[in-house]
Amino acid sequence: MRRLVVGFLFLSIALVLGLPYIFNGQIPVKFFSGTTIVRVYLHGADRIVKIPLEDYLVGVVAAEMPAEFPLEALKAQAVAARTYAVKRLGASGVENPLHQGADLCDDHRHGQAWLSRADLKELWGTLQYYQYYYKVKQAVDETRGQVLTYQGQLIDPAYHASCGGRTENSEDVWKFEAPYLRSVPCPYDMDPEPVQTVSYSLEQLDQALGTNLAALPVSGKQNSPAEIKTTEKTATGRPKALLIGGCPLSAVAVRDLLGLRSTNFSWKAEGGEVAFTTTGHGHGVGLCQYGAKGMALHGYNYRTILGHYYSGVEIIETVKR
Ligand SMILES: [Zn+2]
Ligand SMILES: [Zn+2]
Repeated sequence: MRRLVVGFLFLSIALVLGLPYIFNGQIPVKFFSGTTIVRVYLHGADRIVKIPLEDYLVGVVAAEMPAEFPLEALKAQAVAARTYAVKRLGASGVENPLHQGADLCDDHRHGQAWLSRADLKELWGTLQYYQYYYKVKQAVDETRGQVLTYQGQLIDPAYHASCGGRTENSEDVWKFEAPYLRSVPCPYDMDPEPVQTVSYSLEQLDQALGTNLAALPVSGKQNSPAEIKTTEKTATGRPKALLIGGCPLSAVAVRDLLGLRSTNFSWKAEGGEVAFTTTGHGHGVGLCQYGAKGMALHGYNYRTILGHYYSGVEIIETVKR
């Protein structure tokens, strides 16, 4: 169970700290050596540890993507994770607003998850630890120093577990419009259970959403109870804004408050309950991890995978080989 939980963590980018400091080669490029140290705040232990960047990335990739995924998918994840980390290191002089004295932390809600070797031994068991650890390390080593840039600047490499067939434009999920976080088809998404349904009583909905549905007659067929309406859709047809019992709520807020797997949801009211059916898992922006798995199994390498999910990006080498 823990493995599932940890394996399917996804990044939600809340902070855009980095100042642009990598330029297209004409202006001095800031290179990171293979021995760059990152300062990671550990929530559980309430302390900061200093770890070489490339070692830190093994713990991130292992925490953020199941190690049994194909190597090229793990390599795509490694480059995305490195880009996120290097962008935070690049904010030199700017303190981490959440954890003073640290560059990064180990909580996926604040950035990306990280697991120590001891955590990974527990997660995988001693036997599989050696096989998986070295597989993930290989993904990090084979992409050593590589980061993603758009027009010479490091990108915010959003990623998620599964999109359900098509990724989302960034501005449909967050406030910012990133030219490289565009909606793209995801033909090989291999989420084994993309569609899931969860039901709530009207009282539960009222408590979570701050609405007053229990006092209203809710009935009708799929997506059409008068008290729950979509008022705006995203470019891919997901609900973006809703009116629930007269309360305006964004789909992102509904997902957060109800703990739904994604904003790609529909609903049906029946017998005093509302059943929400979701497709995919995560925010749907950027790299789709199950889509990356599918592309890798169809023979695509990590460069093609990254170019597919991050429109118009370049992979830049920051460490001389
Ligand atoms: Zn944190
Ligand atoms: Zn997908």
